[in-house]
Parts: sequence; C-alpha cells; structure tokens
Amino acid sequence: MNTSGILRIENLKKYYQVTAGLFSKKVGDVRAVDDVSLHIKQGEVLGLVGESGCGKSTLGKTIMRLEEPTSGEIYFDGTDVIKMGKQELRRLRGKIQIVFQDPDSSLDPRMTVGDCIDEALIVHDIKNPDTRNAKVAELLEKVGLEAGFAQRYPHEFSGGQRQRIGIARALAMDPKLVIADEPVSALDVSVQAQVLNLMMDIKEKDGLAYLFISHDLSVVKYISDRVAIMYLGKIVELAGKHEFFNNPLHPYTEALLSAIVSLRPDGKEKIILKGDVPSPLNPPSGCRFHTRCHKVMPVCSQKEPEFREITKDHYTACHLY
Ligand code: SF4
Repeated sequence: MNTSGILRIENLKKYYQVTAGLFSKKVGDVRAVDDVSLHIKQGEVLGLVGESGCGKSTLGKTIMRLEEPTSGEIYFDGTDVIKMGKQELRRLRGKIQIVFQDPDSSLDPRMTVGDCIDEALIVHDIKNPDTRNAKVAELLEKVGLEAGFAQRYPHEFSGGQRQRIGIARALAMDPKLVIADEPVSALDVSVQAQVLNLMMDIKEKDGLAYLFISHDLSVVKYISDRVAIMYLGKIVELAGKHEFFNNPLHPYTEALLSAIVSLRPDGKEKIILKGDVPSPLNPPSGCRFHTRCHKVMPVCSQKEPEFREITKDHYTACHLY
C-alpha cells in the first residue's frame, strides 16, 4: 500500500475495556477500531463509510488523540503523533480540525459568532485584535456569510448557516486536514449541496485534505476521491471513487450500494442485509460480516480474510478474491 501522505495510520486499534461485578473484573474489550491502516494525500478527500456504531467516528477522534489509541501508529505530515507531548498535540489540533454533525457542539450560544471564531484565533496565538477582527471577517466571507454577522449569536442563524460558521471556525486554525464527521447529515437536502460545494471550493483553493465520515454513499460519491468502507471496526474495502462505484468487490459494499436506487448497478436486485450489526464486544469469528453476508461460504466463519490489493489500488478483505 502507498503509505505517503499528509496522514498515515498503521494497524491502529482503539479498544474499550468492559468490566463487570463488584471488583470491576475485565470481561472483554469493545473493539471500536481494530487494526486499521490507511493514508490520505494532501488535497485528497477520503470518504469513510459505515453503519452507525461501526467505529468511524472513534477512528476520527483517535487520529487526533482525543481518544488514546490502544496500539498502532499515526503519522501526520511525517511526524509521529503517538510520541507527541502536550505542546505538540496542541499544535497538531490546529493542523487537524474536526467539523461535527451538530455545529452547535463547537459554537457557544452565549458568545457572538465573531467571538466563537476569535477564540480559535487566540488559541492560534494571533495577539493583535485588529488582525483577528480582519481574519474573522475574511473567514465569514470565505464561507459565504457577511462579515457583519460577526456581531450576531448562533441561534440567529439557520442550521446550514451554523454549519458554515463551524467550518469558518475550523479554518481559523489554517488546518491541513479536516475530519468532517457527518457534517451535512443534520441539514436539509438543498442545504447539504450548498455546504458540500463550499467544502469542495475550500479544498480546491487551500489544498486541504478531508477525512469525510458519513453513512450516506450518495454524499460520499459527490465529494470523495477515494472511498473506504468500515464494518465492525475494520476497513473491508478501499478504492478510488470511480473504481469503487463501478466495480465494488466486497459483498457488504454491494449491499450498501444496492440499497440506493441511483447507485445500484444496472440490472442488480436490492440486497437485503440480514439482521443488525453484531456487537463489537463479541464480533463474529472469521470474517466479521459472515452472519449477514449473502455470499457466505464455510471458510468465512473459520478464517479471517486478509485485507489485500486485488486490482491496482483496490483493496478488500473477502475470501471470494
Ligand atoms: Fe462474505 Fe465470506 Fe467475503 Fe466475508 S469473506 S464478505 S462472509 S464471502
């Protein structure tokens, strides 16, 4: 696998210990992120897709060390993130920003929009108030809002406008990578397109890279250069966008695509996934998807399939290949 890029993670794991009883005896681990390796190039959008609870948001937080990894390696711009001390981590969190589904989580309702963005600039050590005011105005205009809106409070804006303000706040730190965690899921469809276009414009102008986390393959198709599919803590397929949508390999990807009429390959039937996602506390043996797979074979419950390159730059973990 090509391991160059602004972000590179190797064999990353994030387990949460589960305890029970009076003496809090360990009874197992929730394997939220289990042996994930991937990279993102500068200016690239990697779409990360999976059902809720598959570990994609935990992966985003672990990359920034908002959650401490259990094991594995993370390199940002060639620097080892795991070895970073407090000061370096503070700087890292300027260069990697998260935009959440709910913009209100990053906007204090008691502060004006200008102060919310200004707060990020102060953290960024911009001391001169005039420079900061000019930067706030510039950032608001960059996300398609009026500079005068700086005096208003978050509740005075619509959901789409608040997400724009959240993006402006993230951009205040001049990041190189934005982890966008379901950034448009809470917005109306018409507003979704506007915010996605804005994110694409910023990417083109600033050369930003995105890890774009979503459960929605239509949105991911629109914005991504490459797509990764996650299931129960593991990446099961990874490919360039065109290859991914034209030639999906993993049965889970096939099922996800078949659920969306506009993305279903010609002549293919809808594949109904059996049951719910199993618990990551006790994942199925062998291939974790075998309890729901429409192509399951006897080997699937016995042996875990290796994640490997099947055709150029197209990876999957499945015994069919
Ligand atoms: Fe399905 Fe088996 Fe492939 Fe898993 S390894 S996706 S169970 S065919």
